[in-house]
Amino acid sequence: MRGRGIIFDIMNKRLGRFNMKDKLFLKMVLGLIVVVFVALYIGYREMGSQEALGRQTFQGKDGGNVVKKFAAIDTDFEPVYLKLHRSGELKKRAEKLWAMMEKCSLCPRRCGINRLRGGTGFCRAPGTRLFVSSFHAHFGEERPLVGRGGSGTIFFTHCNLRCVFCQNYEISHLGRGFAKSIEELADMMLQLQKRGAHNINLVTPTHYSAHILKALDIAASRGLRLPIIYNTSGWEPLEIIKILDGIVDIYLPDFKYWDSEMSAKYSAGAKSYPEVTKEAILEMHRQVGVAKPEKDGLVYRGLMIRHLVMPNNVAGSEKIMEWIAENLPKDTYINIMAQYNPRYKAFDYPQISRRITDEEYKKVVDRAKELGLTNLDTGWGFWWLRR
Ligand code: SF4
Repeated sequence: MRGRGIIFDIMNKRLGRFNMKDKLFLKMVLGLIVVVFVALYIGYREMGSQEALGRQTFQGKDGGNVVKKFAAIDTDFEPVYLKLHRSGELKKRAEKLWAMMEKCSLCPRRCGINRLRGGTGFCRAPGTRLFVSSFHAHFGEERPLVGRGGSGTIFFTHCNLRCVFCQNYEISHLGRGFAKSIEELADMMLQLQKRGAHNINLVTPTHYSAHILKALDIAASRGLRLPIIYNTSGWEPLEIIKILDGIVDIYLPDFKYWDSEMSAKYSAGAKSYPEVTKEAILEMHRQVGVAKPEKDGLVYRGLMIRHLVMPNNVAGSEKIMEWIAENLPKDTYINIMAQYNPRYKAFDYPQISRRITDEEYKKVVDRAKELGLTNLDTGWGFWWLRR
């Protein structure tokens, strides 16, 4: 404020010889010059960040003749699905998953309904129709996925797990979204690439895995080169994860519960969650290995586990850390999340009707460190936790 006063003093002294009208005019001109300079500076910075973010354009059919101008990703990077796309295997795998919808067994619920004839199973995905809630560059995901251009997130509606505390229940439970064709899904992927996102982040993909592979095949033929992230609850049949071998670059599974009683209670009877998820995570790791950032700080390949700490040790967090330490490399990426927030029906269950305390969170992080786990993402810290 004092600085501004001094500037006005100087201006008033310098403009002393002008009359009021001229002074006002000169002040307006000076103000305008300042505004133009600020706008130019912001524009310059934006250009700088665009360049750093990079843009990659592609020409030609079937992914050929790639024109690299700038790159939102490492320009030497080639996503794994391209090989299978070129050989025609990606299309075959998409067909295989599509056929599984005849007696749907795309997830451990194994409803057995005929989605090809319009049937709707537990996940409420209507037949073979595809619903997407939104797609955009997301800046709230893990840092090595966000970079400067954001993670190219596509949110699918409906869910096969249906947790009572779901943070996105409008999308997952109520299915709020828009009907889209497979071609439109491919377009979304390409648009995200064009906008400078660093990856394609498929959120809750399980019940739409067949649609996703079909769209990916189309997008790959039109120049998609971003890594694919399979952002899942972790509750995936081993058989499905094996079909995704050579297609997914980054697996981003949750490991939500250690105890099957808890998974059954809070995730609509999903008693098999701990066993199925352990098996799926081991297979994911076998396929893509440990997630390690490249020189640009971005992860292009690997397994990144998310674990949400829940109140009253409902998740069995320490046991989960112990299992990871025993079964996976010590530098496995683990995002230990503190942001549990009782939403949706969580208030019907006293055990999970509050946020976690800082002691609860620290206990899990300390245990993970004690076990020798070295690649822990403790995110934004835990400053907002109850004390
Ligand atoms: S994806 Fe949906 S319909 Fe298919 S088995 Fe799972 S819950 Fe049932």
